[in-house]
Amino acid sequence: MIERVEILGVKVDAVTMTQAVERVEELICAGEPSMVATANAEMLLNATHDAELKRILNAADLVVPDGAGTVWAARHLGKQMPERVAGFDLVQELMKVAPARAWKFFLFGAAPGIADKAKLKAEELYHGIEIVGTRNGYFKPADEPEIISQIKSSRADILLVALGVPKQEKWLFKYKDELQIPVSIGVGGTFDVMAGVVKRAPLWMQKARLEWLFRAMLQPSRAGRLLALPKFVWKVHNQKS
Ligand code: UDP
Repeated sequence: MIERVEILGVKVDAVTMTQAVERVEELICAGEPSMVATANAEMLLNATHDAELKRILNAADLVVPDGAGTVWAARHLGKQMPERVAGFDLVQELMKVAPARAWKFFLFGAAPGIADKAKLKAEELYHGIEIVGTRNGYFKPADEPEIISQIKSSRADILLVALGVPKQEKWLFKYKDELQIPVSIGVGGTFDVMAGVVKRAPLWMQKARLEWLFRAMLQPSRAGRLLALPKFVWKVHNQKS
């Protein structure tokens, strides 16, 4: 039985990467539309002042501990949290095992051309992978029926949605039943990294739990978002006392 640890009002699953992949497999086998979220510190902090996001995360079928901040928070609260399961890494693990299991992917989101580049990269890395559709993430409400019909008719097993937080979670929650895709995952900047547009932090920085600092350095427009971290630490500390 996987424990769920409540961090700032959001229940996060205390899973390892292996368990997260197993859970996704179960959800695909079950066949009902389900949702997976990757909770990093910023998302958990956003959920404290976005009740809709909090409700959606608590209704998700799997919430993985994305980022050192989430793992730290659980442990600080005296709970078990085996390891970090970053959204990007989860996508790579799923893509790795997908050909053997005949799982099909649909990539929705990011700027025009990026999901196609991510598709090419996946096909290069994971031999035999089936990516049955792509669609960029810049659209008007009037385009949604066509996007929904494109995703639905792809009959993918896994839908990856990269629209940023909380847009991707809200969009998925609204449409997942209509889409009829077994597993949908909000994956943030994953396609940008796969396409080579945005770099992932070097391994030593990831290990030193400094990935957030690397991202802020690379995209200065994100630097303001760094303030989320001390706020997150402060709020988690208050939750404890
Ligand atoms: N994006 C999109 N449509 C939008 C807004 C954003 O497709 O209306 C994409 C954007 O191009 C990027 C991703 O969503 O590929 C968000 O990446 P980010 O690293 O900001 O993710 P977050 O940190 O919010 O998870």
